[in-house]
Amino acid sequence: MKSQIILKPGKEKAIKLGHPWIFSGAIHRVQNAEQPGTSVDVCDHKGQFLARAYYNPKGSLAARIFSRQAGQELDQAFLERQIRAALARRPALRPGFQTMHRVVASEADFLPGLIVDQYADHLVFQILTAGMENHRDAIIEVLKTIFSPKVLMERSDEAIRTKEGLHERKEILIGSHDQARTVAYENGMALTVDTWEGHKTGFYLDQRLARQMVESYARGAEVLNCFSYTGGFSIAAKRGGARRVTSVDESRPALEILEGNWRQNPGNEDCQMENVRADVFAYLRQLREQGARFDLIVMDPPKFVSDRAHIDRACRGYKDLNLLAMQLLREGGILATFSCSGLISRDLFQKVVFGASVDAGVDLQILHQLSQADDHPLLLSFPESLYLKGLLGRKVSLS
Ligand code: SAH
Repeated sequence: MKSQIILKPGKEKAIKLGHPWIFSGAIHRVQNAEQPGTSVDVCDHKGQFLARAYYNPKGSLAARIFSRQAGQELDQAFLERQIRAALARRPALRPGFQTMHRVVASEADFLPGLIVDQYADHLVFQILTAGMENHRDAIIEVLKTIFSPKVLMERSDEAIRTKEGLHERKEILIGSHDQARTVAYENGMALTVDTWEGHKTGFYLDQRLARQMVESYARGAEVLNCFSYTGGFSIAAKRGGARRVTSVDESRPALEILEGNWRQNPGNEDCQMENVRADVFAYLRQLREQGARFDLIVMDPPKFVSDRAHIDRACRGYKDLNLLAMQLLREGGILATFSCSGLISRDLFQKVVFGASVDAGVDLQILHQLSQADDHPLLLSFPESLYLKGLLGRKVSLS
């Protein structure tokens, strides 16, 4: 018996427009797909074939489309073709200048549930769904074939996997723990990446373009980099000619890597480095009490919300941070502020930052709207692929 899902009338529309997700509420009937991750035909209510997808009875995001070709299997040949195609769409890496990038960005590269990141000779992959998990062996084979990595890591240690009935998994497939760190280049910056202990797959590749932008505003500035992680923005500021860079993060290992990154990158050699291990919310209040002031503040917090019910709370968090930042900025100073919460739209984020500016009694002249780097593309047919929003603005007083 064929494995298939039959949609309710009208529910084929979004799929015909290219959207890859099918929620359980859109499904009329499921046939022969009890095993999580089973490949199925997706059909409209009349039984007309629409696409190939994998189905998981657990959770409300029930199926994700991986092909629009009848009979297509999610097999090794298909995976190899798709991963090679994704790689071919990326600009070529340049030794000594750009040696890290995201190669496969899940749905946005037509491989839902799979992320592949390259950091010099390290390759890191992450599997987020049962549909991809079922093809893990083939994925590993393909990655070995295409990239011949010196180190191959699996960083499927994301809590979201539990929604798919999967456990978190972290494994070294090629290499060993003592090879976990590598130096990779972003836009000419030599950055140490720990692909085993680091956050996500090791580094926040999505902020590449924003770091370049911050570099261009850093000349002579006293910079405060909030949620610095390993210092991508801090090093960019040093290169841009900052006078002093204060980096704040709660993670000690991240700040240790930051120190090494600072030493291994040229820039303004007189630039002072201060690294503070602290909770950013508390530290900003402390700075405000001390009357500290900065010329450039970067505010790049972690994701605050993954559940619609908590959007309001997240907005209060963003507002708090941005209000404090605007109070700490000198007149004419620059704020680069971000939200990587997919559930918060660009509009909403801008409103929250506006609310903060009103409370601070200042205005913000927006100079740039920022977003995720181009190796994290946004599919027009899949607006959910936009998650990182940023505003870079100048503080001006209301007159
Ligand atoms: N700007 C960074 C990425 C930031 S990711 C870059 O360019 O690479 C978010 C960072 O916030 C993580 O490093 C995490 O350790 C840190 N973090 C999360 N909550 C925090 C808090 N309340 N106070 C300080 N740091 C925090």
